[in-house]
Amino acid sequence: MKMEELVNYCKQYGFVFPGSEIYGGFANTWDFGPVGVELKNNVKKCWWKRFVQEDSKTYGVDAAILMNPKIWAASGHIDSFSDPKMDCKKCKQRFRADNLIEEYSKGVVSAEGMTNEEMMKYINDNHIVCPNCHGFNWSDIRQFKLMFETSRGTVEGEKDTVYLRPETCQGEYVNFLNVQRSMRAKVPFAIAQIGKSFRNEITPGNFLFRTIEFEQMELQKFCKDAQAMDVFNDYKKRALQFVEDLGLSSDKLRFHDHDKLAHYAKCACDIQYQFPIGWEELNGIHHRGTWDLSRHSEYSGEKLEYLDPDTNEKYLPTIIEYSIGADRLTLALLCEGYQKEKLADGSEREVMHLLPALAPYKVAVLPLIKKNHSAKAMEVFNLLSKNFSTTYDETANIGKRYRREDAIGTPFCVTIDDNTLTSNMVTIRDRDTMEQISLRIEDVVPYIEEKIKF
Ligand code: ATP
Repeated sequence: MKMEELVNYCKQYGFVFPGSEIYGGFANTWDFGPVGVELKNNVKKCWWKRFVQEDSKTYGVDAAILMNPKIWAASGHIDSFSDPKMDCKKCKQRFRADNLIEEYSKGVVSAEGMTNEEMMKYINDNHIVCPNCHGFNWSDIRQFKLMFETSRGTVEGEKDTVYLRPETCQGEYVNFLNVQRSMRAKVPFAIAQIGKSFRNEITPGNFLFRTIEFEQMELQKFCKDAQAMDVFNDYKKRALQFVEDLGLSSDKLRFHDHDKLAHYAKCACDIQYQFPIGWEELNGIHHRGTWDLSRHSEYSGEKLEYLDPDTNEKYLPTIIEYSIGADRLTLALLCEGYQKEKLADGSEREVMHLLPALAPYKVAVLPLIKKNHSAKAMEVFNLLSKNFSTTYDETANIGKRYRREDAIGTPFCVTIDDNTLTSNMVTIRDRDTMEQISLRIEDVVPYIEEKIKF
């Protein structure tokens, strides 16, 4: 499915709506609708379960979005978190100069190490035109700050600039000792967080792929330097296993090692997914050395060393970071799950083949005939909805209702008919096979619970 088709599909079925739509929209912001919010919450729940709940050495936090601005000086964001932008003077569109070069050269030339002057020269020498209007009338290249600024202050005129965090991980670095001491944690251990980040991206787009506000699910593992490469390789494996377990197919996933590394990094590897726009980063795994803790020690004046209780050795742990965007992963799952299927009777159905654990609604309760069966169906809804997210639908004919549930990925439909009134039996229809079985009402909860485990 093309990205525009997916956007329409998501709007039609309540997954995702364009942000601020009735005001003409607000570019590259999206609002998750009733169906989408369930899906994204399930994505986050599965991640948390796998990487925090099931790992005795990982501790969760939920840090503030607005942090002391010195943190962004220490992290290097105030000085260097910017991209080289240029404007097309003809159509007024803004582009990243490095992307223009890389796209023009089909990835053969990397602009990563180039100065602005070198990039301008390359663009002029090769007469790279505006991808939007094909004009050749560029502004100079200027650095474009990627952090959103706001201000804080109770006295007018004495406002301080503060920033919306562009990444969540700083909340873990600054709480390293708090977590270590309060949880009596021994290195190696990890701190994990799920939360919003904000980036004033120059070229956002492709639906949920790159937005200016997004959620990150990430963890920072603090370890001894000698263990760091093993930890790095372990997270590569675990990160891949996680997305495969969620249903992304292995032939659409690959590792991509970074050629260019940050000066403090020993290695970095992304997992890429084959989106409809091509192979793109889904998550990153980075070896960050002791850079973050040493910078925060320097800027805060607090020594962030770990004291090993067994050896009495004091040292700054090395950090391995694993980070994945909740929205980007949700997009990948939607791309993967969508299928148009031809049925035996020649008709077509659209199905979202989501893993049951991820499905927005685990079950739909459908009275066969509204006036006869809706009271009993409501009873069943009340029973099931205490256990998992359940939807109720009494509109239209049963075939149309099944189609809608297929389209939003509901793995089971429970139909209430005369048999339910007389003998407490319901029919359960499976989304993928479309097969139906009969069950006693009291057996429905354990039946579904077994199928939705992750
Ligand atoms: P990219 O190269 O795509 O800009 P990045 O290397 O800057 O990503 P990180 O800072 O490592 O990304 O962020 C970790 C993860 O957060 C990414 O792998 C991606 O899943 C997600 N992410 C990053 N930027 C965005 C964005 N603008 N919109 C949605 N998700 C994002």
